[in-house]
Amino acid sequence: MSGERRSFGLSPEAKTALLERLARRRGATTAARQPNPATPAPVRIGDLDGQDEIRVIRSAGEVLGIANPFFRTHDSIAGPRTVISGRSYLNFSSYNYLGLNGHPRVAEAAKAAIDRYGTSVSASRLVSGERGVHRDLERGLAELYGAEDCIALVSGHATNVTVIGHLMQAKDLILHDALAHNSILQGAVLSGARRASFAHNDAAAAERLLAQHRAQHRRALVVIEGHYSMDGDVPDLPAFIALARRHGAWLMVDEAHALGVLGRRGFGLAEHFAVDPGEVDLWMGTLSKTLAACGGYIASRREMVEYLKFTAPGFLYSVGMSPPVAAAALAALGLLREEPERVRRLNANARLFRDLAKAAGLDTGNSAGHGIVPIVTGSSIAAARLADALFQEGINVQPILYPAVPERSARLRFFLCSEHGESDIRAAVAGLARAQARIAAEKPDLRALAARLGALGGE
Ligand code: PMP
Repeated sequence: MSGERRSFGLSPEAKTALLERLARRRGATTAARQPNPATPAPVRIGDLDGQDEIRVIRSAGEVLGIANPFFRTHDSIAGPRTVISGRSYLNFSSYNYLGLNGHPRVAEAAKAAIDRYGTSVSASRLVSGERGVHRDLERGLAELYGAEDCIALVSGHATNVTVIGHLMQAKDLILHDALAHNSILQGAVLSGARRASFAHNDAAAAERLLAQHRAQHRRALVVIEGHYSMDGDVPDLPAFIALARRHGAWLMVDEAHALGVLGRRGFGLAEHFAVDPGEVDLWMGTLSKTLAACGGYIASRREMVEYLKFTAPGFLYSVGMSPPVAAAALAALGLLREEPERVRRLNANARLFRDLAKAAGLDTGNSAGHGIVPIVTGSSIAAARLADALFQEGINVQPILYPAVPERSARLRFFLCSEHGESDIRAAVAGLARAQARIAAEKPDLRALAARLGALGGE
């Protein structure tokens, strides 16, 4: 080696050339980062739609001294009771309508499926193949609806998005209830079809829209829910079937909150009205509520199910259901069929809760007294304060605030479970009445809140 000083094995000339190259590149990168004066300002995450609502809820909570009711961590199965941060609560915040989540048979079925198939099927069923449990679940659901076949997907929300989004197209018409779930709206938007909503549960309004618009569209789809989760009321199924037939439209019913809840055996809206389920073109439902699992399904004619299995993107390009999840839903379906007394208990509990709440002067809205009973408070602040007061008393119930519902319809939403006892229900209504009276007596510092929200406006 010569006596020259070398760094990193480079001669002084090579080192100078390298440094010059790097400096040029750094200059180019910095220039690339300089905003072009014609370029719009970069998007700030804090400016995204919905951020204002999040800030308002957080600030209102701080000013009013209300603990954040969202994302609470449960340390146990959320059934009629649950454990949150080590404390046991009477629970009215889960859709475990028939208490099947954690049932020994459901848990055993899931564990056996893991032992047999593992926790994942790793790819789409079309390419990676079926597991027996997928087809058993689909056959079981099809049978319950008296349908020819059924397709199960990994998410209830994604089922509506992909099925509605795929079946309907730009030249088509989608009519849905004004209170339809977000997944129905997302599917309708994705489809590119013309979309219109009709007043809640108003079959005559739906028919007027069909009379006005049907002829200008190729296909038409009317979407309703079997049991509405905000209000706990049910649509007039025979009227919707009749109008769909009269106007050559498909009828789709989302049974997310109807399966296991409506009808003598919990078979849903068709059983509730004693109509032939074959009159509905698409029965949609979720596995996450009564069936103690996770996923969605469509029960329909064989041709329709086959078409969806080969073409619906959310099925075709998404992994098959995790085997323990499918097995849990299948076991829960078995229990639903074998133990109809759970459905009877759920409905008796919901009616008792609603009637006691009404007798205590509380506003239960339009609840039909099945699994869902709202307590309408008339303002988001009142709903948040009431839920917080109940939480302190050991009762877990979620407030539903604006913008999830119009401000004057803000409410608490009680989900009943077949496993609640009469004493639980009496305790909850007594707690509600007490908390309501206490809150009415305390005046919240609305000035401080207004000042804080005013300050937010300038943020
Ligand atoms: N449809 C309705 C009516 C729902 O209420 C829900 C969820 N609450 C869904 C679809 C989506 O189901 P999942 O939560 O199982 O994805």
